[in-house]
Amino acid sequence: MVIAAALVFAALYGDTPDAKHAWAVHDMNRPKPAKVEVDAKGVPSDAVVLFDGTKASLEKNWRDEKGEPTKWSYSEDGYFYTVPDWKNGGAIFTREEFGDCQLHLEYRHPADTKSIGGNPQMRGNSGVFLMNNYEVQVLESYYTSADLDGKPGFVDNYADGQAGSVYAENPPMVNPARKPGEWQVYDIVFHQPVWKDGKLVHPGSVTVFFNGVLVQDHWEMEGLTTHCRRRPLAPHATKGPLQLQDHGCIVQFRNIWYRPIPSRWDNLTHSVMSACPQKVMELRRETAAKLFAKIADPKAATAENVKALGEVISYANEGEFKAAFDAALEAYRAKPGDAKEVEGVNSALDVLVRNKVIPESAKIK
Ligand code: MG
Repeated sequence: MVIAAALVFAALYGDTPDAKHAWAVHDMNRPKPAKVEVDAKGVPSDAVVLFDGTKASLEKNWRDEKGEPTKWSYSEDGYFYTVPDWKNGGAIFTREEFGDCQLHLEYRHPADTKSIGGNPQMRGNSGVFLMNNYEVQVLESYYTSADLDGKPGFVDNYADGQAGSVYAENPPMVNPARKPGEWQVYDIVFHQPVWKDGKLVHPGSVTVFFNGVLVQDHWEMEGLTTHCRRRPLAPHATKGPLQLQDHGCIVQFRNIWYRPIPSRWDNLTHSVMSACPQKVMELRRETAAKLFAKIADPKAATAENVKALGEVISYANEGEFKAAFDAALEAYRAKPGDAKEVEGVNSALDVLVRNKVIPESAKIK
């Protein structure tokens, strides 16, 4: 929809900030998103690369449980993989610790992957443990119960333990797994649970695209991942390592990066949690103060001043802001400009009236 530029750039135009919104609709004061460029490999410029295919990157960014260099193996073909002995290599952890994130990683099961020892959970099992606590399962899941007849070495699995599941909680919505021998891609959006004063105020969530297909749609975590039991959520540090599980099966990994993303609790510029109205109000006051400071002479009885101060009170109609707006409006009312100018002032005041910032009676007659 094309709208006249003059209207778009008017300060008082869209609905004003309120208890849930720090910014007006179409607010020109709202910070613009930072520019991000994506390279030929698909890695965004603001990503933290955890594995770029080089041995140096593996050694720099990953460790074992004790902080020592990992025992996992590196391939000159640009991936690393679990050592084949059961639990011998141990899990692998990032040295970097982080929380809410967008995570990309790719994994592959060797083409001959089968269930080890008749155990359904021993068919290419690994896992992406976000913050070391919440597992998105990695498991050879191309071959399902419908394919297993006559396939020696394959044992059927439970749905909440197949690839793309939030392990023991939620199966993937569909199964887009590729055959063993092909690379699989996870793109994960993770928000950690938020605790305030020992109370859970947001359970956190995980969204997973598996080979580009949505399989977890903002799943709100029920607990810390464990096997067999339902283990409730519990507070932990707000940053933690990414763990890739060693489950005694060979799984290969490559192209791993993440982008930190704002918490659902205090993300004010992109979206705002209604759970933190006090933060919304803090930001509104901050914006009001910045705009107020830009007004050369708040006492001048001009149309421009009324509009500029009207914008200030759209963020915070209180204290010196309210007093200055009221004074400028009364001064202008006593000495208004011509009809066209008054129409412009009233048009701006209308936005405040329709948002109940000021009463209808405040408009210039
Ligand atoms: Mg696992």
